[in-house]
Amino acid sequence: MKDCLAHARVALSNPEEVIARVCGHMVEHGGRAEERDGAHILHIHDAQARFTRDGDATLIEVTTKDLEGLYHMRSIIASHVLEFAEGPVPEIAWAGDGGDILRPPNFQILQVVGVRDVTPHMRRLTLSGADVARFAPTSALHLNILVQHPAASEPQWPTVGRNGLIQWADPEHRPLFRKYTVRSLDLAAGTLDIDFVLHADAGPGSTFAERAKPGDRVGIVGPGGGGLVEADWYLFAGDETALPAIARMLEHLPEGARGRAVIEVADAGDIQPLTVKADIEVEWLLRNGAPAGTTTLLADAVRGIAFPDDGSRVYAWAACEYQAFRAIRSCLREERRLQAHEHLAVAYWRRGEEGD
Ligand SMILES: Cc1cc2nc3c(=O)[nH]c(=O)nc-3n(C[C@H](O)[C@H](O)[C@H](O)COP(=O)(O)OP(=O)(O)OC[C@H]3O[C@@H](n4cnc5c(N)ncnc54)[C@H](O)[C@@H]3O)c2cc1C
Repeated sequence: MKDCLAHARVALSNPEEVIARVCGHMVEHGGRAEERDGAHILHIHDAQARFTRDGDATLIEVTTKDLEGLYHMRSIIASHVLEFAEGPVPEIAWAGDGGDILRPPNFQILQVVGVRDVTPHMRRLTLSGADVARFAPTSALHLNILVQHPAASEPQWPTVGRNGLIQWADPEHRPLFRKYTVRSLDLAAGTLDIDFVLHADAGPGSTFAERAKPGDRVGIVGPGGGGLVEADWYLFAGDETALPAIARMLEHLPEGARGRAVIEVADAGDIQPLTVKADIEVEWLLRNGAPAGTTTLLADAVRGIAFPDDGSRVYAWAACEYQAFRAIRSCLREERRLQAHEHLAVAYWRRGEEGD
């Protein structure tokens, strides 16, 4: 397949600094940077950005394997160039391939076709759309839901500007983004399920789920984020916001896998039956009246778990409120000495803060 190419000439008042900072930042996020024949070249997965001087301007050339990759690479480069540029905001106008990308390729509009409560605090929405199959791989489990602004006169859907970035017709009333997990898919029916925690101090995500009814349209962007990694022994730790991800990963684990799962929920009413072929011992931790994000239940449980010392490949996955995430991450890294490829610990929400 032919590579996709896009290029932009950008006037920067501090070009050397911008290029160094864009490359340095992306290297921190897993990219690789090199200098060759007077050019700075940044590699992100199989995409490339090449920075050279062109008279007074900086020439940025982006090469990717496909148009979706081109959309992402243009957007990553443009957003970081704008972030690190000093002085007047530089104009970025991409030329070359991708001129016909009018909407983000990972955006689609789904329709609510089912609403039911799985447990008292967990509402399942079934959404239907033309391309739910892109969410089938378990390597990327998450998506962003676009919750329409309450004051917007009509739903707003994202478009892509000449600078490669998302733009809104009415930026003041742009939708809010909230992250959720694809709990399950029915490819034959063309639907996917998302489980929403109905939480106290309801924000746009929780309120959207409370009010959703069949026929509503919802914009989503995805998939993204991490997913299931191959190992022999697993630890899964999470509160109810991570339950959809844990449940989906447990369903996909092969029979030979072993491990533990600790899941914190409000009370016994929020325990769900889980389907697990693998040899995973599941323990439910109940807050029994304590507000979410105020206990040390999850971190204490993780500290008490014995990891195998028989040479098994270990993988620990944890997602929860910020304070618990910090305690668990430090336990996994400092006490258990897990390497980067052996664990993923993420804050899924932070008590008292909005998650846009
Ligand atoms: C990768 C990823 C995947 C996620 N998957 C899911 C999922 O499948 N299902 C799911 O329900 N959530 C999921 N979450 C968590 C969800 O995005 C957050 O809980 C988000 O804050 C909810 O948005 P909101 O608009 O309801 O509340 P916000 O506007 O973000 O916050 C409003 C208030 O509610 C509080 N709050 C937020 N979440 C909770 C909570 N769970 N319990 C109590 N108080 C809370 C905040 O601290 C704040 O005070 C995921 C998060 C990430 C990063």
